[in-house]
Order: sequence, then C-alpha cells, then structure tokens
Amino acid sequence: MFMIRLRTHLAPKRRGTAIGVVAVFIVVAALLAGRFQVNAQPVAFAIQEIANGDYVHFGQIALSSVDNAADIANIGIVVGTDAVAIIDTGGSVAVGQALREAVGKITGKPVRYVINTHEHPDHIFGNAAFAGSGVIFVGHRNLPASIEAHGPFYLRAFRDILGDDAIARVRLIAPTLLVDDTVKLDLGDRTLLLTAWYPSAHTDCDLTVLDEKTHTLFSGDLVFIDHIPVIDGSLKGWLDVLPKLAALPAERVVPGHGRRAGPWPQALDDEQRYLRTVRADVRGFIAAGKKLTEAVPRVAQSERDRWMLFDEYNPRNATAAFAEYEWE
Ligand SMILES: [Zn+2]
Repeated sequence: MFMIRLRTHLAPKRRGTAIGVVAVFIVVAALLAGRFQVNAQPVAFAIQEIANGDYVHFGQIALSSVDNAADIANIGIVVGTDAVAIIDTGGSVAVGQALREAVGKITGKPVRYVINTHEHPDHIFGNAAFAGSGVIFVGHRNLPASIEAHGPFYLRAFRDILGDDAIARVRLIAPTLLVDDTVKLDLGDRTLLLTAWYPSAHTDCDLTVLDEKTHTLFSGDLVFIDHIPVIDGSLKGWLDVLPKLAALPAERVVPGHGRRAGPWPQALDDEQRYLRTVRADVRGFIAAGKKLTEAVPRVAQSERDRWMLFDEYNPRNATAAFAEYEWE
C-alpha cells in the first residue's frame, strides 16, 4: 500500500503536511482513475519473511484514518506444513481482505487459526475477512468480555474515523478457542506457544505467540518499537509482566507497532525505560503534591525525542498513570 512508504518514517511534522497533501493527491488521482472504490483494498500489501515460515506485514506508524484504512498494526503469518496461523487482522475489513489475498499468494495451505493478541480495533477489525471459512478464532480468556464491553464503543468511535461503509463491514468476532494460561497450536512441523498474560498490562487480555521452531515472538502490543507505548491496561501491571515476558526463549520479536523486528530481549529496553520514566515522574509529582493537570504536561518529557507519536499518546499515558499511582 503506497501510504505505507509515504507515512511511516520519522518525518518532521512540517514534512508530514506536504506528504499528506501528496498522499491525498494520489488517492484522489487513483479514485479518478477508477482503481479504487470506497472501501477498496490497498493496492499493494507488503509482506516480509523475517524467519523461515514467519511473515510480517508492518502497519504504518500513524493514527487510524480513512487514508490508511487503519492499517496501523503489525500482522503475523506463520506457515506450517499443514496449516497457517494469522496473528491479528488489521484495523479494517479492507486490510483483512488484503491480508487474506496476500496469504494466498504465499501458500496454498489453509488458514486454520486467527489469533487476536488483544481487543483493540486496529488488531481485530479485519477479522470478518476470515469469518465463515472454518477458521478458529483464538484469544486470551478475557478477550470475549473485553470485546463485549468495549466493542460497541469502538464501532461508534471509529465510525467518524473510517466512515460508515467501512464500519458497516466490521464484525465483532469473539474467539472460541480461549487461552487461560498457555496453549500450543500445531501447524504441522511447527508449534506455536500462546501465552495469556496477567495482570493487566497493555490491556487486560494480552496474548503473545511464540513460534517455537524459529524462536520468533509475536508480542502484540506488549512490545512497541519506535512507536510510543500506549497504556490502556495498567502501567504497574505492564512493568510486572516485562521480566516474565523477557524470559520467553525467543531470538527476535515482532512488536505490535513499529516497522521492524527487534532482537530479544534487548528490544524491550526502550519500552521499559519509557514506562519506568513515566512511573518515576508520576510518583515524583504526586509526592510533591502536584495536581493531575500540572503533572501531565511534564511527565516523561525526557523521552520526547525518542518516540514517534509521542505527543499523541504521552499525555494520555501520563493521565492513566497518574490515576493509577495517585492511590498507591
Ligand atoms: Zn493495542
């Protein structure tokens, strides 16, 4: 998808505007040329093989929008001798369909499992593209309740972002194969170790997938690289989970967001430093008697130049952390 190249690098904001204009022009030109319908799929859906049998589509580092069809989360494809597992399906049915077509080009093996790493729309809104084809949806034991609790809100919130037509195609699909603790899935000469994490960290339904053959970890949003981590569960819980996560016998990680795989467990270092900085700053401001509104703009400012989308998410992380640690 052309937007990937245009939008996903560490571009200063003023360049972003020019790039946005160019991107809009390309979209309009493509529409006029009849290459797109509304809701059409991305023209190219890039996939990389990062280890033998492990493929990744790196989503853009961006907020969801009509322009990018919410193609902002990373997606994994693991191919065994018998079957295929998909790890997350992207933020719209258009992305899910592009993914499904791309899988068909890699292998003739059937997709047996669609694994959702957590409840967020950019990871599950593409699920409908795989529904009704004998696919088993897999998730953390808390995922069905999370989808039920938050799904309707996500549909309403994303209607404004993606448009009525895109939202009309989304189906909220709860997993039927639930992971309490760990589950192994056999794809044929390749097993996946699925781990459900506790307590709440990025969310309260975080699930990781380790390909035991290649030692490749698909972490979902427990790991962010380059893209600022986003706290929607518990900062305290996330910091508790990280050492346990680091103990997984992986060699590389595919993060939930960030356009590269990272070495394991070193890829956790930046995220851990950021989360600890948020915690230390928030504790300091609380101890000094600062109010939330005074503290939030000052939390983790030392991290500002190290992350993409910092201004978009850091205030919200600081707010969540303040609320969590205020009554510590
Ligand atoms: Zn997420």
